[in-house]
Amino acid sequence: MLASKFFMPTLKENPADAIVPSHIYLVRAGFIRPLAAGIYEYLPLGFRVLKKIENIIRKHMDNAGALELLLPILTPASLWKETGRWDVYGKELFRLKDRKDTDFALGPTHEETITDLVRKNVRSYKDLPLNFYQIQTKFRDEARPRYGLIRGREFIMKDGYSFDVSEEDAIKTYEVMKDAYHKIFKELGLDYLMVEADVGAIGGKFSHEFVVKVPSGEAHIVYCEKCGYAANVEAAKFHRHKLPPEPLLEKEKVYTPSIKSVEEVANFLKVPITKIVKTLIYKADEKDYVAVLIRGDIELNETKLTNHLKAIEVRLANPEELESLGIPEGFAGPIGLNIPILADKSVEDLHNFVVGANEKDYHYINVNIPRDFKIEGFYDFGTAKEGDPCPVCHSPLKETTGLEVGHIFLLGTKYSKAMNANFVDKDGKEKPIIMGCYGIGVSRLISAIVEQYHDDKGIIWPDNVAPFKIHILILNTKDEKAMEVGFDIYRKLKEKGVEVLLDERDISAGMKFKDADLLGIPHRIVIGKSLQEGKVEYQKRDGSIKDLVNLEDMDSLLKGLL
Ligand code: ATP
Ligand code: MG
Repeated sequence: MLASKFFMPTLKENPADAIVPSHIYLVRAGFIRPLAAGIYEYLPLGFRVLKKIENIIRKHMDNAGALELLLPILTPASLWKETGRWDVYGKELFRLKDRKDTDFALGPTHEETITDLVRKNVRSYKDLPLNFYQIQTKFRDEARPRYGLIRGREFIMKDGYSFDVSEEDAIKTYEVMKDAYHKIFKELGLDYLMVEADVGAIGGKFSHEFVVKVPSGEAHIVYCEKCGYAANVEAAKFHRHKLPPEPLLEKEKVYTPSIKSVEEVANFLKVPITKIVKTLIYKADEKDYVAVLIRGDIELNETKLTNHLKAIEVRLANPEELESLGIPEGFAGPIGLNIPILADKSVEDLHNFVVGANEKDYHYINVNIPRDFKIEGFYDFGTAKEGDPCPVCHSPLKETTGLEVGHIFLLGTKYSKAMNANFVDKDGKEKPIIMGCYGIGVSRLISAIVEQYHDDKGIIWPDNVAPFKIHILILNTKDEKAMEVGFDIYRKLKEKGVEVLLDERDISAGMKFKDADLLGIPHRIVIGKSLQEGKVEYQKRDGSIKDLVNLEDMDSLLKGLL
């Protein structure tokens, strides 16, 4: 490709709304351009990278035996109503009506559509197993679209769905997909972790996320360097050391004027924060109240609470709601409360602890369970953090942030039961099909790669996803000899099928270098002043090589590169 005939509108300035490197560089280097919030155009450079990523994914999905198809983006509401997701999906679902006033949605994911296809075409165990995938544009009206391709409202996903006759077979398929995902992310050159993920309250057996380590990532991960345990904080477990028993002291109500927060109470009463028990009043699905007790130094994990309550969402009760329950804000406590009380495991062997007294400016000290109040049980509601003991080997956990680029999920019968996707088994009985689903954020991967492959000048593409493999720069296009040599190398590479970009634009050498650094093509041949001595320069964009090469040695250099 000749740069003068190509479209690569580079920008000198960072886009105003861009904070993360991938967003800045992908826009500045002319890979993408915004059309509206969370909606991007893939320019020729971006499109080339996208196709390469897609093809790596395709290769490993095909090798794993999955069958590629393409489902409609426009999906009838009737399907979404069968599984209840027409309501559950909320505002993220892009909804529209046709001319007959029938409701439709733009697909944010395709469990309903594929399950409909399978239930209409599968009768017996002989028709199974099946494993389909597609690479397609998805629509989600995200509350906060941001970071360029990382969180779009229109984005490209690889979504796959498997159908098996038994859970045992479904787990085998899940393992095959897990293996394919490892191959994909390794081939893409990513530094990633596979982590245990939250499976939600309804359906779903287990789930893993593939998370690329980046400082600005929205996914919070804890992991153990010693034994390899890794999980999304939403799902992460941690070990709680057993506490020694203590003689029970007399419960006492103490005056704590305007002392509300855990830290204030600990300071005021001169007790460690681990002796304070927080009483958090939650409202589940806008109807039922519940109190949750948790040790002062541990944050409550709302995902775990939501799952335990089998709710869709939970939120903290607001001051008016607390008042209606007779609880002054900041002084909530379990004693005398007449809503269900649940406790985190951290409270299980705690003795003589401090709680709010449900009375303004008062706390109780030396409180004990079950002597002073009854609870429904002890559960895991805690949020794991750096330093907490690993649930497997008890070494201190580490914390990191990342970008979720893939998610695999053993769904079980959640969708097949709701939509009557059954098969007749060997024993003649009708049974629901066991499903799995497997997503990859294809467009998000472009950003994930740039997050891990860049420097302060621009992108440094790994060879296998680079838009071009070799970038030839002719620094002075007025120099006939330089043009001749440049075009000669260009033609030779093209003949060999190498993707090469020749910068023969009539602009300054400085601008050519700036653009080349921004674009990030991994290998570069610079035809400059040293041509007078019969030499050109071979450079790697990552800075590891910068060599003068005799023109006679050009062929062997190029051979080495290929
Ligand atoms: P997130 O927690 O980031 O919102 P999700 O759990 O909603 O992700 P899935 O429904 O599992 O995501 O979608 C599969 C994959 O699609 C994700 O792993 C992610 O890589 C990608 N993805 C999800 N939402 C977006 C988005 N708005 N823009 C770009 N990629 C996305
Ligand atoms: Mg999401």
